[in-house]
Amino acid sequence: MTQQITSTGLDEVVKKSPRKWVYLFNEGNATMRNLLGGKGAGVAEMTNAGLPVPPGFTITTEACNAYYDSNKQFPTGMWEQALAALKVVEQRTGKGFGDKNNPLLVSVRSGARFSMPGMMDTVLNLGINDETVQGLVALTGDERFAYDAYRRFIQMFSKIVLDTDPRDFEHVLDVYKERAHVATDAEIPAAELKQLVVEFKQIAERQSGEPFPTDVHEQLRKAIEAVFSSWNNKRARDYRNFNKIAHSLGTAVNVQTMVFGNMGSDSGTGVAFTRDPSTGEKELYGEYLLNAQGEDVVAGIRTPSKISRLKDDLPHVYEQFKEIAKRLEQHYRDMQDLEFTVEKGKLYMLQTRSAKRNAQAAVKVAVDMVAEGLISKEEAVKRVEPSQVYQLLLPRFDENEKKKASQEGRLLAKGLNASPGAAAGKAIFDADTAEELGKAGTSVVLVRPETSPDDVHGMLVARGILTARGGATSHAAVVARGLGLPCVAGTEGIRVSESEKLFRVVDSDFVLREGDDISIDGATGEVFAGIIKTVEPDFNKEVDLKTLLGWADKFRKLGVWANADYPRDAQRAVTYGAEGIGLCRTEHMFMEQERLPIVQKMILSTSQQERQAALDQLLPFQRSDFKGVFEAMVNPETGEGYPVVIRLIDPPLHEFLPSYEELLVEVTRLETEGGHDEELQEKRKLLEAVGSMREANPMLGLRGCRLGLLYPEINIMQTRAILEAVAELEQAGKKLHPKIMIPLVGHVNELKEVRRQLEAVAEDIDKQQGRTIEHKFGTMIELPRAALTADQIATVADFFSFGTNDLTQTTFGFSRDDAEAKFLLRYVEGLEEPGLKDKVKILPVNPFQTLDRDGVGQLIRMAAENGRKANPDIELGICGEHGGDPDSIELCQEIGLDYVSCSPFRVPVARIAAAQAALTHGEKDK
Ligand code: PEP
Ligand code: MG
Repeated sequence: MTQQITSTGLDEVVKKSPRKWVYLFNEGNATMRNLLGGKGAGVAEMTNAGLPVPPGFTITTEACNAYYDSNKQFPTGMWEQALAALKVVEQRTGKGFGDKNNPLLVSVRSGARFSMPGMMDTVLNLGINDETVQGLVALTGDERFAYDAYRRFIQMFSKIVLDTDPRDFEHVLDVYKERAHVATDAEIPAAELKQLVVEFKQIAERQSGEPFPTDVHEQLRKAIEAVFSSWNNKRARDYRNFNKIAHSLGTAVNVQTMVFGNMGSDSGTGVAFTRDPSTGEKELYGEYLLNAQGEDVVAGIRTPSKISRLKDDLPHVYEQFKEIAKRLEQHYRDMQDLEFTVEKGKLYMLQTRSAKRNAQAAVKVAVDMVAEGLISKEEAVKRVEPSQVYQLLLPRFDENEKKKASQEGRLLAKGLNASPGAAAGKAIFDADTAEELGKAGTSVVLVRPETSPDDVHGMLVARGILTARGGATSHAAVVARGLGLPCVAGTEGIRVSESEKLFRVVDSDFVLREGDDISIDGATGEVFAGIIKTVEPDFNKEVDLKTLLGWADKFRKLGVWANADYPRDAQRAVTYGAEGIGLCRTEHMFMEQERLPIVQKMILSTSQQERQAALDQLLPFQRSDFKGVFEAMVNPETGEGYPVVIRLIDPPLHEFLPSYEELLVEVTRLETEGGHDEELQEKRKLLEAVGSMREANPMLGLRGCRLGLLYPEINIMQTRAILEAVAELEQAGKKLHPKIMIPLVGHVNELKEVRRQLEAVAEDIDKQQGRTIEHKFGTMIELPRAALTADQIATVADFFSFGTNDLTQTTFGFSRDDAEAKFLLRYVEGLEEPGLKDKVKILPVNPFQTLDRDGVGQLIRMAAENGRKANPDIELGICGEHGGDPDSIELCQEIGLDYVSCSPFRVPVARIAAAQAALTHGEKDK
């Protein structure tokens, strides 16, 4: 009833405005995330669910965007709506904003659509001035508390809104603590705090050049502007670039009644997850501080207590909190990240949002929630990021190596296991250097006393993070978990000196300096000197992951195959769930030590007989290579083999020979030294041969099917080796499905001729064996001309495999070997343009990693459609690097390929991504 009466003031103002820019918490809900931001939608939903949320309102993301569109002016009506909403809040709390007898204080916080922890700004205790502070004293009877709130406000407002240097405030605060002979802020007596407030205001005035604002409405206005502006600060932009969040979304601003966790020992503040964000265990996980304000928990100045201790400190609050946590998790059907404050024994919920979690937790929580009946299997599959699946299969430290390191006294300290994974590299003590070295390819472990949002650019490129201070919900821990980086936080056994760029180990004289090797284990919190070897995790022990992947397999439509050149890769691929080999690059087998000399003999031979003799020597090697790969792909129980695509020789032949430049140097050396006649003769011959084979553009030169057309004997030997291997294994009772792939076809006649030659080989072998050996011939579509004439090529191909590495290279005209280093990454990162604030991005992503939908994708789509029209039975797959990239997999699903083929490690990633693509696509089609 009261709500309806009091909301009308806001309704009236909204009617006079072009748009509704402000929503009271009770006017929103969880579905309004785009408009109200995650935080605004969360508090709105909690308010409507009847949970204890301090009243407030949200200024929309649209208002933020309108602010930017109109040259940083509040849009028409927004401020008036905010004032009207404030009136409602005043009525609901019975307090007055700026009222010197009964002051309402508010917090002003950012809240974007996607959570960006710590990236933007917050101002607390807003509404205090010399008059209202008196009201606060009178109301609370606690002068120390009131002046402490006041000095905190000045400090925060100055930093965030007035953009002053926070160090001056911290320095003065330290002087006061010293003078009062106390260790913490909370112990500074009231009389000193009063003086401190005066001094803080002077610092603010000196630094900003204007008097500290005493008008509470001016304070509010400026704080809202500062939050809007923080959407575009450097760290927020860096974070969004990294997480691929659009810069155009804008942030909402939440203005909320302050509640105080620092009003004595029956007050406190904390953050908690409904489940453990590192392991996924179903238990409350988090921490709190009694008699403290929110920023104290995150700042890591005082060490917080584990949430389970709240049971002893404030039992009824703990029970209520546990109940609310459970309700929220059930309501959202997802693990939540909660912020709360207790003011004089009364619990207030300040925030709920979907909790960030690492890979292990993501998988466990998804699988557990299905068992608990909270979510469906489809939802579980959709909830796990494919990249998290990849992380789970990342290497960990070798336990024996770790034990050895401990025995050698290299275990330096143990901190909090804030985010699992193993990281080893050079210790670097500042974010800028970490960024520089990390980008240059050095493995870096960023070591900080504690991290702040200003360190994010360094964290993004580091292998791992080590901090000396801060808890499981400190900035370092939260950001590292979000990034999937190993993190050891709150390592009290080390003292970090930023200025000296080193840390000292407490209780020993060990000093680790910048550039020294370091290893951190985010799963155990251990910190070691030196580099520790890593091992691969045991996929078979990842029970939850296997369950999830099993569900994914039921939903996906794309087959998931692997690129594997050796039996051991093929075995790993099968373990990870591959259903075939989509690419076996035979040339890698040619490179092996015992074969290379024969291969070189074959290449350098001057007559066909000589070449044939070398090929005859190679044949048994190849036959046994292929047998190994086929065998690895046979189900031992049924004897049935998965399909295996073996590609005939592809690279230019000179890749198997020593480099021309090296040979030239060698010959010149031998000539100048004299006396090596025989060797010199040989090297000269080789130099001449290599010289004659040199090409200006070898990637566009004599390679792929062109080689086979000029030297058919090579293809013939390989085909014979493949089919003889099949025949041998089939004699042993196995059933195989070999597919022979001819690379770099650009014209149908190329494929026609190669196929004609090789069909003759197959016939010959059938005759020898006295039966038909199953085989298929297909080609790679990796040249634009092949894609454009796919209808013609499909008439002579049983399958197409899109070689998107070469197809990207030839479509863009970007060299696979040089483009990334020379210019392509700059295209993606953006080019600095004088006079422009933002870098100019030429490409949204690296097209060698994620398929370029508009160009390369278009060619694939066209080739697939035309190929199928000409040959309805044609099988379509992809075997370029993109086959393991989730975004590219989605495109393959849209185009309707039959399978993707990727490196064995990426197979589980592809299984999840393919299922997600099928589910998303299914929903779109409905
Ligand atoms: C390709 O070009 O995409 C491909 C798979 O072949 P390669 O990388 O061996 O050239
Ligand atoms: Mg290729």
